[in-house]
Amino acid sequence: MTENPAFWLPFTANRAFWKSPRVITQAKGHHYLTDQGQELLDGFSGLWTTGLGHCHPKIVAAIQSQVSELDFCMSFQVTNNKAIELADRLAELAPASINRVFFTNSGSESVDTALKIALAYHRARGEGQRTRLIGRERGYHGVNFGGMSVGGMMPNRKTFSAAMLPGVDHLRHTHELSQMAFSQGQPEWGLELAEDLERLCRLHDGSNIAAVIIEPVSGSSGVLVPPQGYLQRIREICDQYGILLIFDEVITAFGRTGAAFAAERFAVTPDIITTAKGLTNGVLPMGAVLVKDEVYQALMHGPEEMIELFHGYTYSGHPVCAAAGLATLEAYAEEHTFAQSRQLEPIFERLLHSLRDCPHVIDIRNFGLMGGVELAPRDGKVGVRGFAAFLDCFKQGVVIRNSGDTLSFSPFLNSTETELEQIVETVRTALLRLA
Ligand code: PMP
Repeated sequence: MTENPAFWLPFTANRAFWKSPRVITQAKGHHYLTDQGQELLDGFSGLWTTGLGHCHPKIVAAIQSQVSELDFCMSFQVTNNKAIELADRLAELAPASINRVFFTNSGSESVDTALKIALAYHRARGEGQRTRLIGRERGYHGVNFGGMSVGGMMPNRKTFSAAMLPGVDHLRHTHELSQMAFSQGQPEWGLELAEDLERLCRLHDGSNIAAVIIEPVSGSSGVLVPPQGYLQRIREICDQYGILLIFDEVITAFGRTGAAFAAERFAVTPDIITTAKGLTNGVLPMGAVLVKDEVYQALMHGPEEMIELFHGYTYSGHPVCAAAGLATLEAYAEEHTFAQSRQLEPIFERLLHSLRDCPHVIDIRNFGLMGGVELAPRDGKVGVRGFAAFLDCFKQGVVIRNSGDTLSFSPFLNSTETELEQIVETVRTALLRLA
């Protein structure tokens, strides 16, 4: 490595990072290898991405074969066989009414695409006044301008406040420690917070609101699980006022909640689903926006001057990414991954909650194979203790993540019980010696 590397890491304090860099050179199955020769158990499935494990042979083979057959082809006015096939497979997997697929390259692009589809849908139906968008406090919807604006994570927003989209409101988040600490699965408290949406509909008149975007389980802000009945109530209010409901399932799709989509697990069907990450097991960048036929049809039958949806990316439906996606979906089916994830959930829940009496722990929460252990901030400084715990675990040979003072877990969907135990015991050791 050079003295002064050119590489600028995303979402990382770069000056501190380069003092003791953490560099991965290889991965196989459930482990990484660093440039120092250290083997690490990946307790985060990449970055919520790689639920099947690293270098899955079926996905590797599909990519190798596709790249020598069709490496790229024009994506506007022309398409490729693999993208067509993958869209059909996704439509089969999605809730019955959702059967149209628009490809992107990332979660952020999926979100901004979904917001644009929502605006275009209303315009096509002669309701062009519906331009307001609603997100949630502590929601994360990527880093592009649309997603950042509907997102509610303060550190991501504060530098750019002047550049936010106009006409965006946020529902309050539903995470109230005094009411729901150490709840397992969905908290019982907090359903009434869905009425925030009703209040906004009265304030702005619901006929001006285009869409509400929600992560069924918030991931990046530290695994916030929706209260019982909350998503159902949001759906009801959206229906009442003709507002589109977007589920941002960039994390929660493809087995993370023990089903193909969290929509299925919660039995609430949105109008649009955004995905990425697990679509290709994280191996190649690809996202998809899944849309109800009704929304698609409205755009196909809009007024003459509208050209359906004038939007897309050079790499939308990239054939090599699509081949990786097809192999990933096949592997999920062949290995019964979603059912396996569901079976692991109670084991993961029990192990995670065994950390309850460790020093500094003020909350533990979980849903599917997503978990959060929240620590009290050290001397009122948010994130210092969380980051120290992350570093300690890394030194011990386990990769987790900290969002502020919440330690987050996203184990492989095909983890062994022993691996889950190793992750939790590593965290326990770190907590017991943490200042
Ligand atoms: N939405 C959600 C819910 C996410 O969790 C993420 C990424 N963690 C994104 C959007 C953005 O995805 P990407 O980083 O691929 O742009």
